[in-house]
Amino acid sequence: MTDTVRHGRALVVGLGIAGIATALRLREVGWEPVLVEQAPARRSSGYFIMLFGTGIASARRLGVLEAIGDRRSPQLTTYEVNRAGRRSPGMSPADLPGKPRLVVRGDIEQALFSALPDDVEIRYSTVPTRITQDDSAATVTLHDTASGAVVTERFDLVVGADGMRSTVRELVFGSQNHLHPLNYMIGATVLKESIEGFTQDEGLVLAEPGRSAWIFSFRDHTPGLLFSYRTDDTDAEFARPPIESIRAAFGPQPPGPLLERLFTAFEQAPDFLFDSVHQVRMPRWHRGRIVLIGDAAWCVTLYAGMGASSGIAGGELLGTMLQRHPGDLSGALRAWEDRMRPFIHTEQKSALVMRRLLTPHDRKEQIMRSVMVRLMHAPVIGPAIGKMVNGPDMNNKQLDIAAA
Ligand SMILES: Cc1cc2nc3c(=O)[nH]c(=O)nc-3n(C[C@H](O)[C@H](O)[C@H](O)COP(=O)(O)OP(=O)(O)OC[C@H]3O[C@@H](n4cnc5c(N)ncnc54)[C@H](O)[C@@H]3O)c2cc1C
Repeated sequence: MTDTVRHGRALVVGLGIAGIATALRLREVGWEPVLVEQAPARRSSGYFIMLFGTGIASARRLGVLEAIGDRRSPQLTTYEVNRAGRRSPGMSPADLPGKPRLVVRGDIEQALFSALPDDVEIRYSTVPTRITQDDSAATVTLHDTASGAVVTERFDLVVGADGMRSTVRELVFGSQNHLHPLNYMIGATVLKESIEGFTQDEGLVLAEPGRSAWIFSFRDHTPGLLFSYRTDDTDAEFARPPIESIRAAFGPQPPGPLLERLFTAFEQAPDFLFDSVHQVRMPRWHRGRIVLIGDAAWCVTLYAGMGASSGIAGGELLGTMLQRHPGDLSGALRAWEDRMRPFIHTEQKSALVMRRLLTPHDRKEQIMRSVMVRLMHAPVIGPAIGKMVNGPDMNNKQLDIAAA
């Protein structure tokens, strides 16, 4: 591909963490980003997010770390509970080595969005329907779903930051086998108030074979609720109302008062996410002038706790590589992908290990998990056990992958 573009015009599809971070950085290095988002407006709030060292380093350089903040309570206590309400000392992923920041997704999106210069063009209710490319540009057909208008425009670069079920991926890379199901479902929301019997600083984990329920507490925000469970048939999970699927997954035993409270809280939440868990695995994330980023490219899943961090870092690094390879788009995208790929590979492996901590697959994993949690609370050996269990993967989460 011949390319004389130095500072071009880039279409960024998707106004999530990866898309906004990318647009912000592209603009910083002199590109002209145009953002399109399928929703009619920017979403807010979202679910519990841990921001590890990788994301923190990039957010700091992008000038948004302070605005993202940290909702970790200094008094944060997490309990392992059972259906009868019995409690023992527990462990939240937030207690993992590296002490991630605890926020809600909206904190990160809002901070990045506020940092975007006012003149960055954003078109809501807009989706790409066709993408082609030649030596000099990518040609994208954009459909405004609110007005029905269709336009075709040329861009020097197209960034697909449109999430796990990416349309850009499908239009450019085809629909074959990029989504790898983990055979788990999640239901996540932010609650209106703390769960009865627990203070604002207290979180809980109810982990049983093939299913778990979590309350993540914050210093200055109502708690996050997460259900995660194993399934052999994701289609069946979507075939009925989410709360019915969640209740069925925790059956047939009676829920008991605590779990019932969690079900009711989920049912009453005005806004929630209910979805199947997949990793996106692709041999390449770019083709010509089109590049995928964030969940669209590599969805590591919530179990890795690194989707937000890798989205911010990936966006920052993309801008850095474009700056470092002026007039050489292919070289910039290659250099970007070469740096990101081993890092993401480790996170995708890490997700499969961390999933056991969040939701044990079966009775054996449940026993291993509870032994581990107990040992991690043991005096003296506890911290060493924590490091041993999470060692190399935890180091990856602190890696400043986008460092210049
Ligand atoms: C319950 C839960 C907990 C999590 N916890 C953590 C955590 O602790 N730490 C962490 O780092 N990560 C966590 N993650 C993962 C993290 O939230 C995601 O990896 C990250 O938000 C993905 O951002 P993204 O911008 O790549 O994609 P998305 O957030 O999916 O954003 C994609 C955007 O593109 C838009 N879009 C989609 N299709 C189109 C289209 N055709 N045209 C235009 N726009 C389109 C969407 O509306 C959306 O705005 C968690 C995820 C979940 C579900």
